[in-house]
Amino acid sequence: MTAKPSQPVFTLTTGPVNCYPEVLSALGRPVYYDYDPAFLATYERISLKLKQAMETKNVPVILHGEPVLALEAVGISVVGKDDVLLNLASGVYGDGYRSWLEPHCREYLDIRVPFNEVVDPAAVEAKLKERPDITVVTVCHHDTPSGTINPVKEIGAIVAKTKAVFVVDAVSSFGGMDILPEEVFSDIFITGPNKCMGCPPGLSMLAISDKGWAKMKANPTAPRGSILSVLDWENAWRKETGFPFTPSVAEVNGLEAALDLYLDEGPQAVWARHALTAKACREGIKAMGLELWTASENFVSPTTTAVRLPEGVEEAELRQVMRDDYGVTISSGRGATLNKLVRIGHMGPTARPIYALVAVAALGAALTKVTGKAYDVGAGSAAVMAVIDTGK
Ligand SMILES: *Cc1c(COP(=O)(O)O)cnc(C)c1O
Repeated sequence: MTAKPSQPVFTLTTGPVNCYPEVLSALGRPVYYDYDPAFLATYERISLKLKQAMETKNVPVILHGEPVLALEAVGISVVGKDDVLLNLASGVYGDGYRSWLEPHCREYLDIRVPFNEVVDPAAVEAKLKERPDITVVTVCHHDTPSGTINPVKEIGAIVAKTKAVFVVDAVSSFGGMDILPEEVFSDIFITGPNKCMGCPPGLSMLAISDKGWAKMKANPTAPRGSILSVLDWENAWRKETGFPFTPSVAEVNGLEAALDLYLDEGPQAVWARHALTAKACREGIKAMGLELWTASENFVSPTTTAVRLPEGVEEAELRQVMRDDYGVTISSGRGATLNKLVRIGHMGPTARPIYALVAVAALGAALTKVTGKAYDVGAGSAAVMAVIDTGK
């Protein structure tokens, strides 16, 4: 028996994730005074690179806290006492958004589906017909604790025909798959660099349409002069404007390195390696006789593989064996999915197909130890390699 590694050898989680080495070195750049002309120019340049990566008409907004700050800030900035809100809840994040929305609106409505399913656009269309007074529709694109992908483009096309603004949480999918704010007709699109962009937690990015800005400006209770204000940051990207609060200088430098990597590699290539890694992982999981959590592979995430726990297996024990004996850290479920599944992340630097082999082998071997039943690690590994070798 080798000694337990004091640090993980492989961090194959769904966030926080391993960072790109280039990001880590950018975090070590000199921290300039935020009003130094050099930093003002940097901030403008980074904001424009973000616009390029998000393919938006308006320059995206950076908020200086990890994406939960953005979720709450958007909730309070968009939703006021006259709003009728429709929240689409297919998982822990989608459902959890309620707590930041319901206190501010006139009426809270939701469409809920089991947490291994996704929302049906037809149900959204029917609800919007039945309730033409709905003014805000919110959805989580990739509900990370389930590893499911909601059909936001179809839903967005339906919402766009109404007066409602469409708010999308794409924190754990943007940068790892084909999801762009304007392609899905979003008015406020919330993401962060700490999942598929391979940065540490600390920032949020928002793409906001003209309809989204107008909605927040018309909301009399949208905060100003507050850490939760989105409006305060509207023009902060311009070097002439400056900042309502001190930006997270080092995190911004890290984001620039991530954006450079993403744009240089090319979004299509980045998305393809996320998809291939997830496919390899799924095939390996199934070849060991395990089940995916998602009800169908039609809406499975290319950035997270959620594996249903076999009867009687405790997730904490399983993950501890993976960590102690193999140095591999993966994610647990959250809330309603806790102790029902474990999750392997394919995000940023770990979206490389060979990591699927590490995850599958460590998971199969740990399950064998925990259950006393033989999981066929050989079959799992062969299935992973077959996907890598065919490249699709
Ligand atoms: C990670 C994540 C967030 C940010 O939340 P944390 O719990 O602080 O990591 C928000 N939404 C989704 C869908 C996420 O995956």
